Amino acid sequence: MHQENSTIRFNNQVGNGYYKIGITCGPEYSAAVPGQFVTLKIAGRMDPLLRRPFSIHRLVKRGEQVDGLEILYRVVGGFTGQLSEMGENEPLDLLGPLGHGFSVSNTVKGPLFVAGGIGVAPIVFLAETLQDRGADLSGAFVFMGGKTASDILCEGDFARLGMGAAITTEDGSKGEKGLVTILLDAYLETQKPDVIYACGPHGMLHAVADMAAARQIRCEVSIETVMACGLGVCMGCATKTKDFPGGYRHICKHGPVFDASVVVF
Ligand SMILES: Cc1cc2nc3c(=O)[nH]c(=O)nc-3n(C[C@H](O)[C@H](O)[C@H](O)COP(=O)(O)OP(=O)(O)OC[C@H]3O[C@@H](n4cnc5c(N)ncnc54)[C@H](O)[C@@H]3O)c2cc1C
Repeated sequence: MHQENSTIRFNNQVGNGYYKIGITCGPEYSAAVPGQFVTLKIAGRMDPLLRRPFSIHRLVKRGEQVDGLEILYRVVGGFTGQLSEMGENEPLDLLGPLGHGFSVSNTVKGPLFVAGGIGVAPIVFLAETLQDRGADLSGAFVFMGGKTASDILCEGDFARLGMGAAITTEDGSKGEKGLVTILLDAYLETQKPDVIYACGPHGMLHAVADMAAARQIRCEVSIETVMACGLGVCMGCATKTKDFPGGYRHICKHGPVFDASVVVF
């Protein structure tokens, strides 16, 4: 973990309320794994007081050296609103990489990814990393769900990896109408992936974890919750688990990625 002064390289709107920002980072990030996150603060501003957490969406290399990262974010409140108005060469206070990420193994075959809304951000990094490390992505599939068509992002990234994709929206404006978990349930009636990786709203993760458990499929979930310190100090993001003395773990330190079988949803 490292705190540094970062500089914005670009900050582009990529959808209705969604932005992709590219920022500089130190070489420490070459060891970052998908599912890990950073916290950001706008230097010199006291409002909001607390740093805000964001998943690493992609690492950027210059030659062999990592020197930047990308974050995909949705504008929901004060910090993300301010961030969306910032531009090239402006400074950001960056802390990371933080947390425990997805397990990335080159022996994985045909993994299944489930992304709800902005939960797609770390899933792209995960799929790209698995491919870089030689995992077999033929037969890999991504399920993406959103409230409406504009919540479906990164389709092109998965297509470039040669992956199949299934899309659902709650209002039917893109893909099948309904929840992504309904389509997933039907898919799992005939397919048994090695592993399911999921990131999205809590209810979606709960449903995916239950489906995986019922079919004895290994499943890892990234839990994104409101978080204060991001360092495992303040207890603000404690979540109940089955495998830890006292029953609670910190999402920021022991997660955000957990084996779904240990999480008490
Ligand atoms: C580990 C982790 C990774 C994350 N990765 C991303 C990412 O890649 N891209 C992205 O856009 N967001 C991500 N988030 C969520 C992001 O941190 C929040 O959207 C951000 O902190 C909101 O700050 P704000 O000041 O703009 O909004 P606030 O004014 O703090 O909040 C506005 C509204 O959003 C709600 N909210 C705040 N945080 C969350 C949250 N985590 N989940 C659900 N609702 C929330 C608040 O309850 C409030 O209703 C992540 C969160 C965590 C914990």
